[in-house]
Amino acid sequence: MTRRPLGDATTQEILDALLIILEDPELQEMARPHLESGADAPTGLFAALDEFAELMGDDEDFQSRVADLRGIAARISAWIRGLAAGPGIPAEGTWIIVAEDLTPLETSQFGDSVVGVITELGGPTSHTAIICRALGIPALVSATGAMTLEQGSSILVDPEGNRAVVGGELSSATTAISFIAQADAPLITVRANIGGLADAEKAAETAARGVGLFRTEVLYLSSSTMPSVDEQATLYTDVLKAAPAGKIIIRTIDAGSDKPVPFLSIPREDNPALGVRGFRLTAEHLDFQRSQLTAIAQAIDATGRDVGVMAPMVSTVSEVREFAALCDEAGITQVGIMIETPAIVPVMADLEGLLSFVSIGTNDLSQYLFAADRMHPHLGALNDPWQPGLLRTVAAIAESARALTIPVGVCGESAANPLLSIVFAGLGIDSVSVAPSAVDAVSTALRAVDSATATEAAKRALAASTPNDAEAAVRALFA
Ligand code: PEP
Ligand code: MG
Repeated sequence: MTRRPLGDATTQEILDALLIILEDPELQEMARPHLESGADAPTGLFAALDEFAELMGDDEDFQSRVADLRGIAARISAWIRGLAAGPGIPAEGTWIIVAEDLTPLETSQFGDSVVGVITELGGPTSHTAIICRALGIPALVSATGAMTLEQGSSILVDPEGNRAVVGGELSSATTAISFIAQADAPLITVRANIGGLADAEKAAETAARGVGLFRTEVLYLSSSTMPSVDEQATLYTDVLKAAPAGKIIIRTIDAGSDKPVPFLSIPREDNPALGVRGFRLTAEHLDFQRSQLTAIAQAIDATGRDVGVMAPMVSTVSEVREFAALCDEAGITQVGIMIETPAIVPVMADLEGLLSFVSIGTNDLSQYLFAADRMHPHLGALNDPWQPGLLRTVAAIAESARALTIPVGVCGESAANPLLSIVFAGLGIDSVSVAPSAVDAVSTALRAVDSATATEAAKRALAASTPNDAEAAVRALFA
């Protein structure tokens, strides 16, 4: 694995989102009385964060965000006071970091001397897991008992085998499957997930055949004023021009919950993942939804690219009808939806004639299927994409899409796992879409297998009753 430079796009995005909260005028207002009564800036900031956290009550998602913010505040505080802060990890030698959990800032600052990370908490879509993947650091999250490991011991971090072995030798690490490409093209199409122009350019340097998910909200995570149609059209046009050859799927804005978009002024909610987010924002923000679709239509006209547009977080047939009507009004012909809520799955047969494609967002689909917050530090195991409950739901979705005779993709983090991408191919999924950094590995795996092998992998995964059994049964196929 090659180590990517610190400050890569993924890490930057996560830290930018935290900085937006740190710059929240409401938070600054809370700090003001402390500053006026003589507290210095760091003390005022910590006091405001405490009050902010109290106001948010027990919302786990928000509390973990506040913990991340405290991590940043501690750095600011140390900097102002001229103290050396930070993980204090020597730049020399090789170190495995063991922690209950890590903030995004801590994780992003690991240098070359950090060769492994083990955390007791966190899940496959936690910030620690995502940033370590981006930095090329082997990481084990949700590792029960990690905090009992002793300082100074030698530990084998074996993410491939999903284990840590005290005193283990590198030679006993689970061998990563090295797929040898046989065919010229992958068994199913591999596209890239992007959040803006830089990602589109990066994706164009990979084997990606187009874009399977353009997360448009990423463009607006720090925008306090609503962009005009012209401004949006210019941005989308630039992205469409830079994106790799092939179909491009643009997702309309998926704000709310963990994705703040300041100009939409989304009120704070007790349970934001179950609140007004994704397509539900249309009721309050119809003008923006219309302006976005108009701008996308203009970008399609300007570039002549083959573009589908999909809505996030739909759960009823009426919402799909409403979205299809809005697309029609804007002149968009290829209309799709993300399959992210369990409720839309059993009614897919009723979508006949409304859609050109669907795309499965396994990150949210897991969260809602298992009633387990995708960022919850204690519930990582439920968000494991090898969970039979998820895999069998993906199989049912593939079957429904086949009955509708429309293509179905997977664009959640799960598809970036080469073994799972093979399982998805065997389940009848037509395309996967993954971060640019994972495109080449997934493409190679899908060029190494034929459809009979993928079908067998899917059969084995569906027969298992636990995530570990599912993964082991599929892995054994390639041993
Ligand atoms: C998903 O939910 O799987 C998905 C791709 O959407 P996001 O991660 O942007 O919520
Ligand atoms: Mg989602």
